[in-house]
Amino acid sequence: MASLPHISVAGACATATHGSGDKNGNLASIVKGLELIRADGDIVNLKSSDPDFAGAVVHLGALGMVTKITLAIQPTFQIQQEIFEHLSLEQATKNFDAIFSSGYSVSFFTDYSKDINQVWIKRRLESADQMKPLQEFFDATAATRNMHPIAANSAVNCTDQMAVPGAWHERLPHFKLDFTPSNGEELQSEFFVDRDLAPEVLNVIQSMNDRITPLLFIAEVRSIQADNLWMSTAQGADKIAFHFTWKPEWEGVKALLPDLEKALEPFNARPHWAKLYAMESHRIQGLYPKFQDFKKLVERYDPEGKFRNEYLQTKVL
Ligand SMILES: Cc1cc2nc3c(=O)[nH]c(=O)nc-3n(C[C@H](O)[C@H](O)[C@H](O)COP(=O)(O)OP(=O)(O)OC[C@H]3O[C@@H](n4cnc5c(N)ncnc54)[C@H](O)[C@@H]3O)c2cc1C
Repeated sequence: MASLPHISVAGACATATHGSGDKNGNLASIVKGLELIRADGDIVNLKSSDPDFAGAVVHLGALGMVTKITLAIQPTFQIQQEIFEHLSLEQATKNFDAIFSSGYSVSFFTDYSKDINQVWIKRRLESADQMKPLQEFFDATAATRNMHPIAANSAVNCTDQMAVPGAWHERLPHFKLDFTPSNGEELQSEFFVDRDLAPEVLNVIQSMNDRITPLLFIAEVRSIQADNLWMSTAQGADKIAFHFTWKPEWEGVKALLPDLEKALEPFNARPHWAKLYAMESHRIQGLYPKFQDFKKLVERYDPEGKFRNEYLQTKVL
């Protein structure tokens, strides 16, 4: 699940929307079949065995209108979530793998001012019974009340914490369906790097905190399992995603993004398709091994560019 449940299945899959979990792929990775209407009105049904399938699932709206999706689902299950505050950067980078594998879904929240503000651990339960709450977590301190990722905000919008078991859909998103997700008015960016590079990337971003922190509401770090979908941000390798929830200060964010992306260039960071980034399509092309095949697929499905817009022309294709 993404951090919010307020999105459509088709839109989330089209943009490789994700949550967190070493063993969890993004939402697109559970797609098993697609029906779409192409620009010429033809209806196409794709199954995972079809050659176009891996290119069509994360399609960014460029192939046609998706009218049906088949998903791999599983029986319902219970989750309990626990939060720890103030994990030192040293412990975070030294124990990165142990931290992210400590639950079904684990996230860091940080404003990069000093330490990791909060670690959210969502553990999967085998039955409806509560698991013994975690007593300690490296050098972080257990939260004593429900928290919002932005500690100053009320947790009333957030899903229940304090190790209270609940259904997966009421614990995996951070925000409740009937409340405002995240901060409300905000801008967002996110960059994906190979998992083994993540501790170094965390330090690089931290070293830019004099420019980043003033523009941030909060940032989140999550893990995503690899998949083989051509345009998925997790294509080819397990990834760690560095997300930024910016204040609605576009001039400042616009000036920072090229420098942040330059600092992340040696790590071949891929931007989230549905969030703000500065790089142009020529840079994107080098980040996806199957990019040229995707371009050919778009030209075949929509030769006249009915579904293409300015974003697709300048920032993707
Ligand atoms: C507050 C907030 C929190 C977020 N948290 C997360 C997060 O935790 N993780 C994450 O990965 N992302 C997150 N996002 C980004 C979000 O997941 C993406 O913006 C997602 O695409 C939104 O889904 P949507 O249903 O609104 O899609 P839309 O914005 O409506 O569509 C996205 C794309 O899919 C295409 N599309 C949609 N439906 C169809 C269809 N039926 N046929 C063909 N094309 C279609 C659209 O043309 C567009 O290109 C967040 C966004 C917000 C605003």
